[in-house]
Amino acid sequence: MTQSTPKRSLQTRIVHPEDTLTPGFKSFSVPVERASTVIFPDLATMRALVWHDDSQWRYGLHATPTSLVLAQRLAEIEGGNHALLQPSGLSAISNVYFGLVKAGDDVLIPDNVYSPNRDHGDWLARDFGLQVRYYDPMIGAGIADLIQPNTKLIWLEAPGSVTMEVPDLRAITSVARARNVLTAIDNTWSAGLALKPFEHGIDISVQALTKYQSGGADVLMGATITADKQLHMKLKAARMRMGIGVSSDDCSLVLRSLPSMKVRFEQHDRSGLALAQWLKTRPEIAVVLHPAIADCPGHASFKRDFTGAGGLFSVVFDARYSAAQIDTFCESLALFAIGWSWGGAASLVMPYDIASMRTEAQWPHRGTLVRFYVGLEDEADLRADIEQSLAALA
Ligand SMILES: *Cc1c(COP(=O)(O)O)cnc(C)c1O
Repeated sequence: MTQSTPKRSLQTRIVHPEDTLTPGFKSFSVPVERASTVIFPDLATMRALVWHDDSQWRYGLHATPTSLVLAQRLAEIEGGNHALLQPSGLSAISNVYFGLVKAGDDVLIPDNVYSPNRDHGDWLARDFGLQVRYYDPMIGAGIADLIQPNTKLIWLEAPGSVTMEVPDLRAITSVARARNVLTAIDNTWSAGLALKPFEHGIDISVQALTKYQSGGADVLMGATITADKQLHMKLKAARMRMGIGVSSDDCSLVLRSLPSMKVRFEQHDRSGLALAQWLKTRPEIAVVLHPAIADCPGHASFKRDFTGAGGLFSVVFDARYSAAQIDTFCESLALFAIGWSWGGAASLVMPYDIASMRTEAQWPHRGTLVRFYVGLEDEADLRADIEQSLAALA
């Protein structure tokens, strides 16, 4: 802008404002910087852009200062070096597939995986030439027998977010490393707080920020986190080509909740474990599937690798109750709402028909599985609520 700018019309000045604010404002919030267009100071800067340089601002779809601050904080929580944000946890999973595997490659998926990941893998196998196979999540070092020359990626989920088996991560990753196969974990259950994936030889961590990071059951977002720069770049290239980005407004909501996440997680953990232990004493319940309780498959791996559990666990009802009775139990709860997801303040409940959801690992239980998400309500009130609903079963 030249010094002797003529006086422009109001309309032009509103489009090209010359705001004058006192410098030095400081607050605790990260500014919400919205952008599609990013303005370059000159053409030389624009022409010198290289898409893979994370320190350059290019276009609002790829990053804004708001989204990059969130990505950096997430990488730090997880113990990684790089993070990319996607508009949902499922799109973060999709970013891993499209960034790291191609037609003809083989992918191994645990049989208890988050079911939309299973559906995504089946879709890529059916329509895009990927080979997808399922494995028993408790397979451990036995994964070696499944690895083929074209096996490129092993998915992990710890624990399986419905049936709660905790895999032996180290047994699987040491085989994968030796055979040059990438591993990606869906680490949503631990929020990146209770399990540090890169300490266990895992290459990529996926988070549904929709859960504990958002904390409000009102934002959808996902992230892929890596320690290795090359992997980050591959994921970033796929993300760019697919046109995936997040809004700075949504990032700001997650940034607002992040400082309280650890305290919330610990409170969910305390109430969740107390309710799980109490449910174990109830005659209506056949098994409690909570990784911190010995009955849960992989409990020893949990004790070795995790520092906490959060508020999500499942129970299997005694087989004498019909599926219809368990539906009534769920609907009789007053404080546990019926709905998917978790991580908000309010408790949730959901029944599952597990036998219909897997193909490899034999499901040993006959009763209906019910998953509880224990929120931030008073624990005694939640217990009383479950108690009145169990009474309705009789
Ligand atoms: C919720 C969830 C996702 C997907 O997150 P969305 O943001 O809902 O797409 C992925 N993995 C696990 C284990 C989840 O619980």
